[in-house]
Amino acid sequence: MNPKSTTKHNLLALKQLSDNLTSYFKVGSWWPSLSKDEIIIGAVLTQNTTWKNVERSLENLKVNNLLELKKLSKINKNKLTELIKPSGFYTQKSQTLIDISKLIEQHASLQKFFELPLSKSRKELLSIKGVGPETADSILLYSGNKPIFVVDNYTRRITKRFLGLGKELTYGELQESVHLITKSVNKYKELHGSFVELAKKHCKKEPLCDNCPINKSCSYFTKSN
Ligand code: SF4
Repeated sequence: MNPKSTTKHNLLALKQLSDNLTSYFKVGSWWPSLSKDEIIIGAVLTQNTTWKNVERSLENLKVNNLLELKKLSKINKNKLTELIKPSGFYTQKSQTLIDISKLIEQHASLQKFFELPLSKSRKELLSIKGVGPETADSILLYSGNKPIFVVDNYTRRITKRFLGLGKELTYGELQESVHLITKSVNKYKELHGSFVELAKKHCKKEPLCDNCPINKSCSYFTKSN
């Protein structure tokens, strides 16, 4: 489903999926952290691990009064590595956090950084080792309130099944398609959280379709029943 050739039918189905999921799960803005800095730190720490492990690292940073990017830009890397150990991949993640902190420092403040054109701030984040599209977009959407949808493996799996596609959409295809159905920052936040909820509770690797709240309109389910 290349967005340029997206069929009206698929976009309507994606819109229906989006509306049904957000009204069913009602996750609100979803991201569990509080401050903008905490969201950015959490977005890096959550790569390839559970949020429980992220919380342990965040707590270590909090008790050491280090839950601020401006402090991480000057921190001793070994110390940071030790504090974020519960989240795994700590050597790479500590360097990534330091590099993001230095990037923000170059722009004087986080507010100034988020005032950049979206394509520029995204490009700068993506230039940092350890920051891929999902992490960059999580930072821009949840910390910066920027109009950009976050795609993850859950989103790709669910849309492939729901729309009855032959293969999963790429990151860019899916993101552009969601951008076509809504421009709402709040909807992007809610929808990402709703996809995560659906994947954890129903649309697992082996899907549990019988109690899935959207099974009646899902191609995968209707074709197999
Ligand atoms: S009905 Fe099954 S395949 Fe479709 S979204 Fe729900 S859990 Fe996934």
